[in-house]
Amino acid sequence: MKAMVFKAPHSKLQIEERPRPDPGRGEVLIAVRACGVCHGDLMVQEGAFPFAHYPIVPGHEIAGTVADVGDGVDWLRKGARVGLSALGSSCGHCTACLGGDEFLCPSLGFTGVTGDGGYQEFTVANASYVVPLPDGLGFSDAAPLMCAGLTVYSALRHAGFKPGDRVAVIGLGGLGQMGLLYALAMGGRVAVASTTASKESEARELGAEVFIHSRARAIGEALQAWEGGANVILSTASSIESANAAFPGLASNGTLVVLGAGPGDVSLNPMLLVMGRRRVMGSPAGSRKDLHDALEFAAKHGVRPRVAPFPLDDAAEALAQMHRGSLRGRAVLAIE
Ligand code: ZN
Ligand code: ZN
Repeated sequence: MKAMVFKAPHSKLQIEERPRPDPGRGEVLIAVRACGVCHGDLMVQEGAFPFAHYPIVPGHEIAGTVADVGDGVDWLRKGARVGLSALGSSCGHCTACLGGDEFLCPSLGFTGVTGDGGYQEFTVANASYVVPLPDGLGFSDAAPLMCAGLTVYSALRHAGFKPGDRVAVIGLGGLGQMGLLYALAMGGRVAVASTTASKESEARELGAEVFIHSRARAIGEALQAWEGGANVILSTASSIESANAAFPGLASNGTLVVLGAGPGDVSLNPMLLVMGRRRVMGSPAGSRKDLHDALEFAAKHGVRPRVAPFPLDDAAEALAQMHRGSLRGRAVLAIE
């Protein structure tokens, strides 16, 4: 089978021919049909995860079918449509795991980072961390939900989002697009801020009522002019400067959620923080429960990402286009 591999940090993605793996006890073999291309995959290439194992097959937005079942797995059958997120495994006994918040487990198994992921024709997964795909969600629709969709859904939940809230999405890449779509489908109103003026048409087509070109106008001021600010800001851009610039645009009691972990520091005006009882939080992907709910919600409410399909062989090109910011929609590696 074909696999795309980073041999070491800062190396190029290379095609390898590998034997098809066998699932061990408690595992399944997934025939990958679609794998989303996430900014996290670039971080693997750049060596930004200190716990990553190399050589590694990246990819943690996996959608496919069960091709083989290991011993002891009785709830998944061959042919079942399934997905696998970044949460590849967890310890099962720490406080986070006991609370159903496995993504915060200190022994997290991170798909495509600590173990091989979805940039290959077949991948082995811990069966307990595989989720069934709801009917009506195609493989390419489902793949971007496995990380980008899950991340924004979980973030909105943990930020205390309520229907009717004004949500500002900073950055309109793959993650920002999902933030916009979920916030709207969950009953929110959406503003989008981007450094790229030409993103306005895409933001409006997708349903944003406000667009802020952040090179032409201060995001904070523009958001304050939107009925007193955003109740939730989802900072999806990898630049932390854009989160800092957006913070003054929060309404009182509002929450800034930092989703992009680029270099630099969070820097906030403490007066605004205190006097408006504003909050700043980070949010990683999410738990199995969050993932089940995010998928069911998407299936039921018509959340369908815009996708830019690439063949597996062109994975390096998909990463390069994401890095340049030239994609419209989420890049997805599609495997026939
Ligand atoms: Zn744990
Ligand atoms: Zn991701």
